[in-house]
Amino acid sequence: MTFSERLAAVEDRIASACRRANRERGSVRLMAVSKTHPASAIHEAVEAGLTLFGENRVQEFDAKRAVLPLGIEVHLIGHLQSNKAARAAEIFSAIDTVDSLRLLERLNAAASQATRRLPVLLEIKLSEEPTKAGFTPGSAELEQALERAADFGNIEVLGLMTIAPLDKNPEAARSCFRKLRDLREQLVRRHPLVNLRELSMGMSGDFEIAIEEGSTLVRIGTALFGEREYAAGR
Ligand SMILES: *Cc1c(COP(=O)(O)O)cnc(C)c1O
Repeated sequence: MTFSERLAAVEDRIASACRRANRERGSVRLMAVSKTHPASAIHEAVEAGLTLFGENRVQEFDAKRAVLPLGIEVHLIGHLQSNKAARAAEIFSAIDTVDSLRLLERLNAAASQATRRLPVLLEIKLSEEPTKAGFTPGSAELEQALERAADFGNIEVLGLMTIAPLDKNPEAARSCFRKLRDLREQLVRRHPLVNLRELSMGMSGDFEIAIEEGSTLVRIGTALFGEREYAAGR
C-alpha cells in the first residue's frame, strides 16, 4: 500500500468515528507520528497533505529537521529529560508530554531564552504501568502546575495528553479516555484562566474509540507509515 492509500483508509476511519460520535471532522486533528522514520517519509506525508507531525526524541528530530519541508508543525510526544529542555524549546512547535512541574518551569525559562511562546500539553498518568510518565490526577503537583500556568509568561498550557494502557482489547482504552475527558472538565471548572481545549488521545490501535470519547488530536504512526524498525539498543 502507498502512503496515500494508508492515509485514505485512516481518514475514512476518522470520518466514521466522527459520525458515530456526532462530531465534525474538523474537531479532530490528525498527527502523523514519524518517529524512527526517515525525513523522506515526512516529505511523502506532506505531499499527501499532512502538516502536523509527532517525534519522540530530541536528538532524532534535531538530526532530521534540516532536510524537512517548511511550514510543518512538529510536536514532541516522548519523555523529555530536563537537560534537553532548552534544545526542545528551540526546535519543536510544541511539547505534548510535560510530565512534571519542574519540567514546566524549565521549559518556561528555556522558551524565554529563545524569546518565544511555547504551547504545551500536560501528560496525565491514568494507568498503573510502571513505564508510564505523567501527572497523577488529583495530585497537588497537577493543581500547582495549573495554578502557576498563568504566571509562566512563555508557556501556554493548551490541554491534556495520555497514553492508554497496552491491551489487546481496544475497549480497555475507553475508560482511560473517559477519565481524561472527565479530568479536563473538573480542571476547567477549578482553573478558569487556563484554556484546556486539547485532549491528545488515541493511537493506531485505539484512535476511533478516542474520537468517540472526545479526542481533539489523534497520534497515528503505524497505521500511516507501517511498522517501525527499531535500531539495536532502543
Ligand atoms: C509512537 C507513539 C504513537 C504512535 O503509535 P502507533 O501505535 O504507531 O500509532 C502515539 N503516541 C505516542 C506518545 C507515541 O510514542
